[in-house]
This record gives sequence, C-alpha cells and structure tokens, in this order.
Amino acid sequence: EGRETRLRVVLRVRPLTCTETRRGDQQVVHSLGDGAVHVSAARHDATFGFSAVFDAGASQEAVFEGSGMRQLVELAIDGFSCTVFAFGQTGSGKTYTLMGPLAQSETQPASPALLGLMQRSFTCLLEQSRSRGSDLALSASYLEIYNEQVRDLLSPGPPCALPLRWSKTRGFYVENQLSVEFESLEAIVSLLLQGSQRRRTSAHALNRHSSRSHALLTIHIRGRAVSAHPAPGEGWGGSACPSKQGSLCFVDLAGSERVKETGSSGELSVEANSINRSLLALGHCISLLAKPRGKRTHIPYRDSKLTRLLARSLGGSGITLMVACISPSSRCLSETLSTLHYASRARRVTTRP
Ligand code: ADP
Ligand code: MG
Repeated sequence: EGRETRLRVVLRVRPLTCTETRRGDQQVVHSLGDGAVHVSAARHDATFGFSAVFDAGASQEAVFEGSGMRQLVELAIDGFSCTVFAFGQTGSGKTYTLMGPLAQSETQPASPALLGLMQRSFTCLLEQSRSRGSDLALSASYLEIYNEQVRDLLSPGPPCALPLRWSKTRGFYVENQLSVEFESLEAIVSLLLQGSQRRRTSAHALNRHSSRSHALLTIHIRGRAVSAHPAPGEGWGGSACPSKQGSLCFVDLAGSERVKETGSSGELSVEANSINRSLLALGHCISLLAKPRGKRTHIPYRDSKLTRLLARSLGGSGITLMVACISPSSRCLSETLSTLHYASRARRVTTRP
C-alpha cells in the first residue's frame, strides 16, 4: 500500500486461424518458456520478456490462473482499484481472452472451458464474497468510448453521450453513468451480454466481429466488515470498521490497425482514425510514465477520453494488469513487433496503490 508497484504485463499468443493456416502463413513467434518470447523473421530476430507468456496451447483457465487475475480480484475486494486491459491488433484475441467466444455462438452458450477472464473473475468474486462472510454490495457499470464519445451500454434506449468530468476527490469520472446492482453470476453475465450486444462493432477484413469502440466494464465493490460482536452501545456494523470500496475494471481496447489493411473507408475510416488517435495518446502516456518518477514530465491524460478514464490505473493509485495479445503469423509481423515494444515499455510504468 502506498509503495511503487509495477504494472504487470503478460503476453498471449493466439493460435494461427484457419485462414492463416490455409494461405500458408509462417509462424514467427515462439515462446521460450519462463516469460520469454522470440520473434524471428526475415530481418528481425528479437527476444522479449514478460511476467508470463501464454502460447497457442494455453487454455482460458491457464491464462486466468497464470496471469495473476485471481489475485487482482482479491485485491479489489480488499478495497483497491484494479484494472485489467487487453491490448493488441484487431483480431489478435483481446475479446476472446476477456470474454471467450461469445459473439460466434449466440444461439448456444459457449462451453464453460472457453469462458474468459471476465466470467472467471465474476465467479471468483462471488465465491470470495460468500466465503469471507462479509456482505459485499456489488454493482456494475459498462461504458464504451466510440468516436471520442462516452456512451452507457447498460441504459436502455439509443446510446447517448455522457459527460466526462474531473474533480479533486474523484479524479476523472463519468457523470450519470448507470450502475446496476447484482448478486448472482447469472445477473452479471446477463449484464455483460446485454451491454456487449449494444457495443459498436463492424465487420472488416481482419475480424468479422471487430469491436469499433473501447469498452470498460467496472465492478464496484462496497464492503462492510460487519463485526460479529459489536461493542456495547455500538450499533450493528459500527464505525469501528470503515467500509472499503474497491473496483475491478475490464478494458477491451479497440484494435490498432492500419486503414489500408482493413479495407476501411468512409465511416469506417473515421472510426479507425479515432481509435488510432486514442491508442496513440495511450501509447504516449505510457512512454512518459515509463520514465523514472523524478524525471517525469507532465502526462497528457487529457489528450483522449480513454487516457482520462485510465489515468488512475496507469499512473495513479490503481493496480493494473495488462494482457498484450498478438497473432503468431508472419503477415502480422509489424503490428506484432509494435505491440511487443509497447508492452515492454508498459512494464516500466509504476503506480502507488
Ligand atoms: P480482437 O478482439 O483482438 O479483435 P478476437 O478476440 O475477436 O480479436 O479474436 C479474433 C478471432 O480469433 C476470433 O475468431 C477468436 O475466436 C479467435 N481466437 C482468438 N484468440 C484465440 C485463442 N486463444 N484460441 C482460439 N481462438 C482464438
Ligand atoms: Mg475485440
């Protein structure tokens, strides 16, 4: 608490897709074990290190257990602001890692083995809250940033833009966002599904269900440590135990992409440009934050809505896990290298939880 803590960065390499295999793409990314990964292609030969590397064979469960996600859930229950964000090129497996293959199977539910970090965290959260015997009040909010507008994915009706404000006590926050209470796994999973269906997606060359927005699902955890033996004269759940307020935020970033590769034009290229602009702002903040604290200059969080909303997770009092996702294919080499450099830089970023 209060000490500098590094961002935890893990890497996930997805398997080659059928299309990639069929057209004979070379696999250029190889896991070396112990958190090391090697990229070898024509003119490139580089090794990168992370807290953990999950290769094509890694199951969803292995990613949950090996990434430190379980500990993050526990820290959120203890009152910390925790964030996990998935980052990488379009089609690299961000949504798959966070939610599993939801979109492809709307008629039949996904197999439990394929559930992503989010559903696994919800289960863990609800189990912990039961076993600790403390009564936790849980609620969820779900937002997307689409073309630099913040929209509520849980409120009914057509999406409308919500104002993003700043206050001394709260930092950046979204005004009037809906927060829905839940007590069961079914309830929170159904909120996730409802919200995800309202999310802005478009089909393009690299991914049939490509997310065109950044989505942030936040679980708010309010705990009251109810004392078993209240002191005489002290009310039930008296002032002896201040209430803890933690949060757990899942960020599914829209993919970085180059407009010419995705065949985007018109409205799609407007989207792509605003996605790229906010990812660039995020990258810029991360580079500056990666410098030692004494040498840091002003961090331009205000450059985009995304960086404002992530300010606390990146440079403030949050605890953050970053899951960098890449494709192993030779065709994705330049985006893969850029994700790897970005992720390596993020490992030097520290916060003070
Ligand atoms: P992104 O959200 O980064 O754009 P997706 O998560 O939608 O990418 O993944 C793109 C495609 O690759 C999807 O069809 C998804 O099912 C598949 N995929 C991604 N990661 C894996 C994985 N680890 N194992 C199997 N299939 C995967
Ligand atoms: Mg996605």
